[in-house]
Amino acid sequence: MPRKLIAGNWKMNCLRTDGVALARDLGVRYSGETEPAFDMLVCPPATIVDAVGAAISGSGVLLGGQDCHRATKGAFTGDIAAPMLADLGCTHVIVGHSERRQYHGEIDLMVSEKAKAAHEAGLTAVICIGETEAERDAGQALAVCSRQIAGSVPEGSTADNTVIAYEPVWAIGTGRTPTTADVAEVHAHIRAELSRVMSDSDDVRILYGGSVKASNAGELMAVANVDGALVGGASLVADDFWAIAKACS
Ligand code: PEP
Repeated sequence: MPRKLIAGNWKMNCLRTDGVALARDLGVRYSGETEPAFDMLVCPPATIVDAVGAAISGSGVLLGGQDCHRATKGAFTGDIAAPMLADLGCTHVIVGHSERRQYHGEIDLMVSEKAKAAHEAGLTAVICIGETEAERDAGQALAVCSRQIAGSVPEGSTADNTVIAYEPVWAIGTGRTPTTADVAEVHAHIRAELSRVMSDSDDVRILYGGSVKASNAGELMAVANVDGALVGGASLVADDFWAIAKACS
């Protein structure tokens, strides 16, 4: 069974002072664990990746970006290339988050290209997939995940360079979560679909994301094929994020 990964997506939150304080707090807690049962990853906004990296340096907490461009460099004003994230000490980058798909028109092919760029830069791509509420109501949740895996997971993906985050769009930031039976069904389906595109699919970490809190983390993390969490809102409060991580122990 893969070791659990607890990842925080800070989104467009935190100025430098807040972000550094949060990162330091998590770093002290994580480095104080004798044998942490989980890996911890923080993905701050691009403006403070460097400062957060310095704050967690030596603690064992991992650093990630929230998005990257498919190209390594060039005339792409405002974008960030995967090698730039690697240059700042990132080991991971989130790609295909539903907010990128929704507000920036990112389609599966673009997500796949970004994940490939991440791999080429030596980063682990955290590829997000998940159905909208309308798709779930129409009974299409599994089909959407199949389609997104086929389209967003590039050739050359392995358990070392790829993490999948199942994030039902309707559960993100809403306080609503699927039942544990639904999570189990989708995660088992994702595992089976991954076996079509990767030889080491059993070792790929499949995170659940969408309104994970300290109060529901224990039951969600105990579901088969749930190998950790991608956490938005609750990752901005050290006590809450830490309590979620400890639910893996
Ligand atoms: C997310 O945006 O990745 C997320 C899971 O958000 P939240 O935990 O706030 O639902």
